[in-house]
Amino acid sequence: MSDRTALSWIEIDERALRHNLSALRRLAGPERELMVVVKADAYGHGMLPVARIALDSGAAWLAVFDVAEALALRAAGIAAPILVFGPTPRNLIRSAAEAGIALTIASPHAVDDVAAAAPAALRVHLKLECGTNRQGFLAEEFEHIVRLAGLPGVVVEGAYSHFADIEDTTDHTFAMQQLRSFEERVAQLGRQGVVPARLHTACTAATLLFPETYFDLVRVGIGAYGLWPSKETLVSVKQSGREPVALQPVMTWKTRIAQVKTLPAGVTVGYGRTYKTTRPTLLAVLPVGYANGYDRGLSNRAHALVRGQRAKVVGRVMMNMTTIDVTDVGGAAAGDEVVLLGSQGDERISAETMASWLDTINYEVVARAEPHGPRVVV
Ligand SMILES: *Cc1c(COP(=O)(O)O)cnc(C)c1O
Repeated sequence: MSDRTALSWIEIDERALRHNLSALRRLAGPERELMVVVKADAYGHGMLPVARIALDSGAAWLAVFDVAEALALRAAGIAAPILVFGPTPRNLIRSAAEAGIALTIASPHAVDDVAAAAPAALRVHLKLECGTNRQGFLAEEFEHIVRLAGLPGVVVEGAYSHFADIEDTTDHTFAMQQLRSFEERVAQLGRQGVVPARLHTACTAATLLFPETYFDLVRVGIGAYGLWPSKETLVSVKQSGREPVALQPVMTWKTRIAQVKTLPAGVTVGYGRTYKTTRPTLLAVLPVGYANGYDRGLSNRAHALVRGQRAKVVGRVMMNMTTIDVTDVGGAAAGDEVVLLGSQGDERISAETMASWLDTINYEVVARAEPHGPRVVV
């Protein structure tokens, strides 16, 4: 799909993406592999274009959540190593294995599935439970890892863990406990005769903060897209006395004004009549709404950018339309480009600002933007 047919679309800034990837690569150092996380349609940025640019910018690995995403990458001709983070049902194990996709194996049940599927050759990464209490083998389940490692064709290509409390705080005591627990569990595995080829624990926040979490590979998502994992992560980097990496946001979300109209003072706008004009108002109608990922929680709260100026969302965000007040934007007219997220002229609506309007995090804002619309690399 091109931006010529779509009424709203996402632009991704290739230069910014390459800049972020090379900054993260530099942090990780030449002796570690860079894994770029492209799950959730590359956090809303478009899985295929991001994957291609990432591999061209030095990523050794791609990571996705499920086998369907991994097979879509393969179908697009991407031959690079891919790791699936999520669970893989028994009926998909063989096709994943045949496509050379590495699977996360995180439970005794998943070992049963691999044994039953009996793929000719399968690359696995073990997920070890170290305190996030989500996915991963408990220490007392390691006999199942030994069973897995002994299955014909199974190659234990990696072992990893994921931090529970590294973005949400400037106190990293728990993260460091998890790191020690990971090291102990890897040692325990070694004593049981399983030695994974690579170890990894670092997400973006860990990559920005703690070289001791890197091991053989770093897994970066949010940072590649030019966003800080949190304010706390930025504060922590500054407190450590280091110069923060200059990350550049990659996503711009755009639409165009469909129609403008002048309303008198004292009339209401949209469903539920939640906004009443207090002056003669120039209203612009945008062809984007909650079905396009422009959250209904932005009603009477968000701003959009028109002609380099902020214009307030007035009234409720509708399924496919939103209304903004462009009275103070000189000359706003039908056809004008509108930035919903990103910058225009000297103004910017950051993912963090939109997240604050919605009481959420930048990750959710970008991941939910424009789920069906086109991604255009600029
Ligand atoms: C999503 C994910 C990441 C990436 O995290 P960021 O904070 O976006 O860098 C890394 N590892 C795992 C296991 C993940 O699920």
